[in-house]
Amino acid sequence: MPELPETETIARDLDGALRGAVVRSVELLRTDVLRPRAALARFRALQEARIARVWRRAKSIVIDCGDRALVVTPRFTGALLLDGTPDDTYTCLRFTLRDGRLLRYHDVRRLGSVALLDAPALAAWDAGLGPEPLDPALTTERFSGIIRASRRAVKTILMDQRRLAGVGNIYANEALWRAGIRPTARGASITRARLAALLEALRAVLTESIALRGTTFRDFRDAYGGRGGFAAHLQVYGRAGEPCTRCGAPLRATHALEGRQTVWCAGCQR
Ligand SMILES: [Zn+2]
Repeated sequence: MPELPETETIARDLDGALRGAVVRSVELLRTDVLRPRAALARFRALQEARIARVWRRAKSIVIDCGDRALVVTPRFTGALLLDGTPDDTYTCLRFTLRDGRLLRYHDVRRLGSVALLDAPALAAWDAGLGPEPLDPALTTERFSGIIRASRRAVKTILMDQRRLAGVGNIYANEALWRAGIRPTARGASITRARLAALLEALRAVLTESIALRGTTFRDFRDAYGGRGGFAAHLQVYGRAGEPCTRCGAPLRATHALEGRQTVWCAGCQR
């Protein structure tokens, strides 16, 4: 599932490719990805709109078109693909640009979503999300305040988009391993010094992954259908049972937190 680095990769590519382009037509082939479903007719308003900017917020790609924004959240198998990628039966939404290029939202399992929001709706959506981990305005004090305000497991808090935006299962597992913090540790019980180390680890792993265009573990594809290069650098995610690269103990796995696979090292995460 695309998290912050994967979504950032898509947004940066599309911003470079689409800024200033004009939408000639919009075709809706599978409407069940639209949020809300009733928004169908509103998509016609995108015809002749100029794309001003493409950016990322949390795990969504935001395409600013005139006075509206298209918010695409790929979730498990969604992808925003630009020209040159083969069209097929999983295309849900297709934009033809005035210059002849095609932009498609493709989603095999159709668990992703596409919403068309006006400015107040976009602001309300944005306000419901936590701060961005790479935003310098997120100080260590604010970050430790977010984690320490909850008695839930630190990994669960990291992945809660209302508290912190953009972090999912891959980078929560990796950052906690780097910081030497056990994923089940309760937020309120972790010292500020250890949380400062966690924020640093989180920023490092996200930045390194962005530089390699994200992690393709299974499904993630960038806007040109390419794979991310960070999977080879994962230390815990997908490595249950293998030795910890820091201390040699076998990595353990559980599904006890939110039903997602947590992988950690009992030897060096406390
Ligand atoms: Zn270890």
